[in-house]
Formats: sequence, structure tokens, C-alpha cells
Amino acid sequence: MQQASNSKNPSVAVIGAGMTGILMAIKLREAGIEDVTILEKADQLGGTWRENTYPGVACDVPAHMYTYSFRGNPEWSHRFARGSEIQAYFQQVADEQGISGKIRFNEAVETCHYVDGKWQLTTSQGNFLEVDFVVSATGILHHPAYPDIKGLDTFQGKMWHTARWNHDVDLAGKRVGIIGTGSTACQVIGEIARTSGELTVFQRTPQWIIRVPDKEYSERDKASLRGKQEKLAALSRRYAFVLRNTFSKAVTGSKLQHAYMSWSAKRNLRKSVRDPELRARLTPDYPVGCKRLIINSTFYDAIQRENVSLETTAIERICEQGVVTSDGVTHELDVLILATGFHPFNFMRPMDLRGRNGLSIDEAWSKKVQAYRSVCLPGFPNFFLMLGPNTPIGNYSVIAMSEVQAAYILKLIDQWRAGKLPVVEATEAAKRRFNDYLREGMKNTVWVGGCQSWYLDDDGDPAMWPYSWQQWEKELQQPDPDDFVREEPAEQEPLRPAA
Ligand code: NAP
Repeated sequence: MQQASNSKNPSVAVIGAGMTGILMAIKLREAGIEDVTILEKADQLGGTWRENTYPGVACDVPAHMYTYSFRGNPEWSHRFARGSEIQAYFQQVADEQGISGKIRFNEAVETCHYVDGKWQLTTSQGNFLEVDFVVSATGILHHPAYPDIKGLDTFQGKMWHTARWNHDVDLAGKRVGIIGTGSTACQVIGEIARTSGELTVFQRTPQWIIRVPDKEYSERDKASLRGKQEKLAALSRRYAFVLRNTFSKAVTGSKLQHAYMSWSAKRNLRKSVRDPELRARLTPDYPVGCKRLIINSTFYDAIQRENVSLETTAIERICEQGVVTSDGVTHELDVLILATGFHPFNFMRPMDLRGRNGLSIDEAWSKKVQAYRSVCLPGFPNFFLMLGPNTPIGNYSVIAMSEVQAAYILKLIDQWRAGKLPVVEATEAAKRRFNDYLREGMKNTVWVGGCQSWYLDDDGDPAMWPYSWQQWEKELQQPDPDDFVREEPAEQEPLRPAA
């Protein structure tokens, strides 16, 4: 992108060195913005792919689509890339782009306050930083949710959350229990069923699963793509076309696509699970896609193994020996794995984020976690969220979404540099209009089909994008100047959400 003539040259702090933080750093540099500080709480980059190292961890979006558009990767081992190779890919891209050396590791942002037109940050290393812009690239699903089950702390065996895998424990011959049957659990179960002794799967709610066969890429497959970025890009576009016109449409109101997805998930269950009694216990009572569709080809095989049992009686409590179900049975275990998901609405927290006049993020979001076009927050000038509320996450590439957001953010910064915007701050009215528009679209989505999932907020409203992918790209194509403040407001009472 060209630097605007006579433009201001901003300083930017990027918080987080996961997929979105690396992307933002690259895009800022391409826009001629050199004063960029990347702060990363951990000692390595990679975000999700650094933290999730559980057996079976892989991305259920095709690998050739799950890459930056400007850097295809001919080396993927499988159609669904393994977690460690995705982590290595991000490391490699950051190295190639000269980003790795610029990341300040082991430095968490503790406070981030907007004071006198600048953002002031303090970090866990005791450092102070003052910048014009902040990009929060802290990810979505990074705060593990531990289940609120009585007696959880009393368990005497080994216990851990899937995002904090304990690699010191060998599961061979052990009595293992796993709570949860979401996307993570299905990947874990598919893998550890082969190595554990007895494995008990505690299922609260069954899930719809679609089988998309994995494929190992041969040396010949890889060689045919080496040095051919255009061919890789075309492959990525092909996968994107398929996902947009199947999964994305199926969940946002298209009856035809939804019928096809439903047929596919139901057929998978029917064909994969032979025992009708087990099949019945694995059959959800809500529409396909209401919870995130699971793309998996190992779970159904695993659950039918001799050493694996599915427990659908509700968990009453955890005791020293294991899990007690409501029928009074104690399931004795050596290891208990919590595949119980994440807190999706924490975003940048626990960072103490305060915008104009001391408005805290907790106050701004006390009634509802909302943003303007997922990216901007009224009251938080020159502050951007990557993968913020209502990003069209679902069964699609978060990288593609982030690239759309990064381009939009760069356009906004460009307006500021050219003096067209005094600050980049969406108005409260624009945020309200945007969220009314989202609410209108929600009615047609499958997420309001009567299930519970992290897709829904405390009011039961989906926190996803309810329209098509094409509509999303269109919305973020060009900033609408009317939606942004034209004059810096004078010092005033903090902008509080309306009662
Ligand atoms: P999740 O989808 O939120 O699933 C959590 C599971 O734990 C559910 O089965 C839930 O049951 C169960 N659970 C939670 N609390 C419980 C309790 N107190 N008692 C019994 N069961 C309990 O979490 P996840 O599987 O970690 O997946 C989260 C998201 O991560 C996915 O939706 C996806 O976006 C992402 N992910 C992506 C991939 C990928 O390949 N791209 C892989 C893994 C994860 P209920 O259904 O009854 O609530």
C-alpha cells in the first residue's frame, strides 16, 4: 500500500504475536509504518498453535486455505495440517518477513490507557510505551474454561485442560476420562483412543459431525506446488469457494445448503456408527450447524473401539477417585482431561484497557460485547480489534478474515495519516446501527435453533456474522467516514453504554 503524501507517521503497538499479530506487523510495514512494537506475553509466537499441543491437534480448515494469501505453503503434510506444522509455518513466515526479531517476548501488556491523544501501555517487564495506535491481536479462544463441577479440585489423579496438555503423562494402560465432545475433544479422542487403556468419554450434548477425508500429500504433490505461489493461491481460492458456498451459506439462512449439510451429517452418523443404541446416544436433537459443525474423520471410529465407552449420564460431581454420575456410579480414573472449551468473550482481558476519559472495557462491555464492524470501539480512539465480536468465524479460515480486517484497519490509519480523520473512532450511533443490522440477520441463522454453544452470548444472541462471506468483505471494503467522529470530543464524562 502506498504511503499517503504529506502524511503523519504513526507509532503502533501490536498486542500478541499469533497469526493476527504477525499479519498486522507485516501489513503495517508494507504501508510504510516502521515504528511498530509487537508485545507477546509468551516466549514464542503462534498463539493458538503454540498453546494447543494436544494429541490430534490439527486445523479442520483445509491447509492450503489456512495460510496467508501472500504466502502459500507447498509443504503441508496433509489436507488438514497438524498443529505443530502450522506453528512452524507462522514461525517461518515471521522469520522470512523479518518480524521474529522485532517481537518483545515474555512481555504481557498490563495496562493500556488512552491519555491526551496517545495510548500509554505498561508491561509485565515494567516497561512504559506511548503510541498513536494499538492493535489488539490477542485471539479469541485462549482462556480455558474449566467446568463448574462440584469437587473438581479433589481429584487425586492427573487432570488438565486440553489447551494445557501434560506431555509428561503416558496414557498407555491408564484409565482415562475426557469431559466434552466439541471440536477439540473429537480430535483428542480420535488420537488417544489408540494409546489409552480404558477411555471414558463424558458427553453432555451430542454434536453433528461431517467427515471430510484427510489426505496425506506425497512428495510428488508437494514438488508440484513448490515455487508456484499462483498455483497455491488458486488452490486456496478453490477451497474458499467451496466453504463459502456450503458451510457459510448453510448456517446463514440458505435452505438448500442447510439441507445438504444436514443430509451429510446425518448420513455420516448412520454410516459410521453400526450399533443403533450407540447411534441414538450420539444423535443431537438440534439442527445441524446450530453448534459449530465438527469436521472430523476419527471420532466415530474411536468411540466404537473396545477400550472406549460413551457415558451420557450427567456428571454429578468429581471425587478423589474419578467422576460420579447422577446414577450413583463412580467412574474410577487415573487421568481426567477437560475438553471443555474456552471463554470466548474475554478478548484482550485481563489487560486493563481504558479509553477516552478512563472508560474501561469492562464498563463498555458491561451490557453487551459489541463492536463496530468487529474492529472499532466507540470511546476507544485509535484502537483496533482483530477477530473482534461478530467476525464470521464458523467453519472458515480465520486467516482470511484477519486479512480483510487488516486491510480495513490500514485504510482507517491512512485516513488519519492524511488528516481526514482527527482520530479513528467509530461513533456510538454507528455501532448501534451496525449491531441492529446484525440482529436483523441473526433471525435467519441456524445458531438460534435452540442449542447452547460458545457462539451465543449471555443473552442467547449469536456473536457471529449472520450474513454471507461476500457481504462481510463488502462491509469492510471501504470505511464510511460518516461512521467516525469528525472532531475530537472535548474532555467529558466517560462515554458509558446506555442503560
Ligand atoms: P467447545 O466446542 O466449547 O466444547 C466444549 C465441550 O465441553 C462441549 O462438549 C461441552 O458440552 C462440554 N462441557 C463444557 N462444560 C461442561 C460441563 N460442565 N459438563 C459436561 N460437559 C461440559 O470447545 P472446543 O471443543 O475446545 O472447541 C472450541 C472451538 O475451538 C471450536 O468451536 C472451534 O472454533 C475451535 N477449534 C477449532 C478446531 C479446528 O480444527 N479448526 C479444533 C478445535 C477447536 P455442551 O455441548 O453440552 O456444552
